[in-house]
Amino acid sequence: MEDTLSITENRLLVIDDQQELCEFIAEVARRLGFESLAVTEPDSFRRAYLDFNPTVIVLDLQMAGSDGIELLRYLGGQGAKAQVLVVSGMDHRVLSTADQVGRSQGLKMLGGLQKPIMLSDLEAVLRKTMKQGSVITAGDLEQALARNELQVYYQPKARRTTDNRWLIEGVEALARWKHPKRGFIPPPQFIQIAENSGLIRQLTERVVELSMRQIARWHAENLPLSIAINLSPRLLNDRSFPDMAESAAQSHGINPKHIIFEVTESAAMSDPETTMDVLTRLRVKNFGLSIDDFGTGYSSLKHLYLMPFSELKIDISFVRDVCHTNEARVMVEAMVMLAHKLGLTSCAEGVETPEILEFLAKSECDRVQGYLIGKPVPGNELPGIVQLWNNSQSTTVAV
Ligand code: C2E
Ligand code: CA
Ligand code: CA
Repeated sequence: MEDTLSITENRLLVIDDQQELCEFIAEVARRLGFESLAVTEPDSFRRAYLDFNPTVIVLDLQMAGSDGIELLRYLGGQGAKAQVLVVSGMDHRVLSTADQVGRSQGLKMLGGLQKPIMLSDLEAVLRKTMKQGSVITAGDLEQALARNELQVYYQPKARRTTDNRWLIEGVEALARWKHPKRGFIPPPQFIQIAENSGLIRQLTERVVELSMRQIARWHAENLPLSIAINLSPRLLNDRSFPDMAESAAQSHGINPKHIIFEVTESAAMSDPETTMDVLTRLRVKNFGLSIDDFGTGYSSLKHLYLMPFSELKIDISFVRDVCHTNEARVMVEAMVMLAHKLGLTSCAEGVETPEILEFLAKSECDRVQGYLIGKPVPGNELPGIVQLWNNSQSTTVAV
């Protein structure tokens, strides 16, 4: 297997006078691996364009004080090489006319997206534009580990109380690589290199060490959070991993019951015998075990009941759709029930709206995680989020 992966010099400039939408587009792009810049003032657009030199521009057609067509002409006049996507609340004919205007100016047009913009449509268009330019190597990652460029962000996980409130009681640790030149590189772009090059053990040890240090600090501040740490499939073949995890917990004075290892379903199935050995030893040591992204990958219900999991984590792709399709609702309800019948707790990931949260409470899902409750943040920002969210839950009841 390759130990390198193509990444890009992808820069996205978005201009939209609706601030929330503008930031949303920039955030989606960032998660895909773009460096992104959001501009809400049409007057700032020209300066931003010249300074930032974007490879992709997302342009709102209707803005107070300016219109997108004017900006398309400006870009044409500059001989812009960037690919341009237009967005608008107006109907498709307006979008296709704007697209033609752009083409007549010699611009590389990506077509149009009508508001409200669907996340999946936006991601699909942006993905197609990504340049496979520069390359990350295992050597870069090794250097990053040596230079401490690897950080951990923490995303809250909330538990449902008997009176249907959701209280943050834990976090998931998510690796972040802050590259000195390329900015944040998202995990999907380096975890695979770490796995293929054997650096995953070192990377995981680093994540475990930083996470435990953080948890110990929170416990000392009277914030008794638990922590979920992602485990790569490779480490399920490493029989020494449970001992390493145990001594890391001991050295920070943390009871393993506060630590959950999340394992992807496909990973848990690849070499059942060794996996079973490693997972069972982790459980015996009192660590929690979560089967991640459940419902995707090479699912084998047989292995689910054979392996000693304590939590079933319902994949974002089902959760996201519960307010749109009956099938997603049926699947989520069935997965919650399956978890409970096997004696596991259920956790839904990707909870982005109050409607989804309400559905999950009605379905008796035990835990939730998603942007509605909180995004992944550096450790020092988490206590504020916990306080704000948990206080809001003592006054309003979610269902
Ligand atoms: P995952 O374990 O499924 O982690 C959840 C991912 O979904 C995270 O992306 C998180 O930021 C994102 N997410 C959380 N809530 C929402 C939401 O409401 N909406 C949307 N659209 N997304 C949400 P992230 O941090 O980019 O991580 C991606 C994947 O990289 C993780 O998926 C995990 O498989 C892997 N990963 C991250 N850190 C580590 C690590 O330390 N070790 C290993 N082995 N894998 C890691
Ligand atoms: Ca996970
Ligand atoms: Ca997941």
